[in-house]
Amino acid sequence: MNIENLLEKTLTKPQYEAIKILGGQFHKKGTRAFLVGGTIRDLLLEREVSDIDIIVEADPWNLIHKFDPKYPLDMISNSQFNTCKIKILDQAVDLAMARKEIYPASGALPVVTSASIEDDLGRRDFSINALAACINPPNWGEVLDLYRGLEDLQLKHVRILHAGSFKDDPTRIFRCIRYSGRLGFSVEGDTKTQLLNDSTYLAQLSGVRITNELAKVFSEKNANSIFDLMDQFKVLGHIHSGFPKEPEFSERKSLLENIRIPTPEFVFYVLISLIEPNQRLDLIKRLDLGNKLSKFGTDLNRIERLEVNSSRSEIFKQLTEVSEIAISVAESYAPRELRSSLELFVNELKTISLCIGGEDLMAIGIPQGPKIGDILSKILTYMIDSGPQPKSGQIRMAKKFFSDF
Ligand code: ATP
Repeated sequence: MNIENLLEKTLTKPQYEAIKILGGQFHKKGTRAFLVGGTIRDLLLEREVSDIDIIVEADPWNLIHKFDPKYPLDMISNSQFNTCKIKILDQAVDLAMARKEIYPASGALPVVTSASIEDDLGRRDFSINALAACINPPNWGEVLDLYRGLEDLQLKHVRILHAGSFKDDPTRIFRCIRYSGRLGFSVEGDTKTQLLNDSTYLAQLSGVRITNELAKVFSEKNANSIFDLMDQFKVLGHIHSGFPKEPEFSERKSLLENIRIPTPEFVFYVLISLIEPNQRLDLIKRLDLGNKLSKFGTDLNRIERLEVNSSRSEIFKQLTEVSEIAISVAESYAPRELRSSLELFVNELKTISLCIGGEDLMAIGIPQGPKIGDILSKILTYMIDSGPQPKSGQIRMAKKFFSDF
């Protein structure tokens, strides 16, 4: 099959020109170059192509330095894994050397060696992502389809290349469900069986790798329905039994949409808010969500532990160290009584403060030491429960509390 016409029809003019130049230059340097992965999949589906991924059967970084200088290139980045990012005709292009991967253990990162395009396609996750189209001028647009990817695009299903695929790399379980949800494809029969059998290997993934995959799911346009699919495949339970489920997730997500939470972290706040308090910190640790989200989990636990008939000072004590974001999140779903306590704290209790400090107490003869802090905190508690006091009243109370010690 040749997709010469499709390349011209589907790519933007600058994308097309950029790929033409790169194909011509790599050809002159005596190496084969191919459009691969999502680029070719989306082209064949006539979807907009956002990323241009090219595989070269050599180290691309070395070769681009030898290109004809009449084609100006911006070198954006280069990695130790023989991949680099460039800009040509204002188009960002990812270049990578064709490679082979061997997985030493399930869930571990692969050992990589240089290889042919055929080997490179064989290491890929799904047949629809294992297609390539040559960009060397003599073979411009010729499709390499070693794994029946074209047929699977027609059948609209996601299929792994070999039975051990999910075991080798369990992140492919997330990828499979993500593509299925994004493209509206089904998961092919044997792939589905294998996915259900191999979900246990998810337990071997590090927290960071799981979090990265979840972040990709959540950045999809139809993230909620993909999350729903993950539920149906019972994927999340293999990561942690405390994982929330659809539809609670979508409901909570829309509830929290108006709270100012940084975008990439947003869904993790949603997740944490849905987890049972006794499982919260364990799941945060499993996903390696970092200190900020751990603090958020602890804060929510503190808030949810607040008893209904707590005194004003008890509310203050419980919430004084809690972050504003945790309070805003809890306010959105808390039962009425708890919400009133949160509102009382935010609108009134939090604004009460002392107008005296340690120096004022020392000035009236109270010796320096831990008693100073205890007395100040007693005065504040008194004011929270019984109302504000002027400076003179606060000094009077300090003297009284000191004499009571
Ligand atoms: P999109 O960026 O639109 O989600 P993509 O196919 O470009 O889709 P990437 O994650 O950028 O996805 O990966 C590029 C290509 O690398 C994929 O098409 C696939 O062929 C291959 N790939 C990525 N991750 C894996 C993996 N875990 N196992 C095997 N192949 C992978």
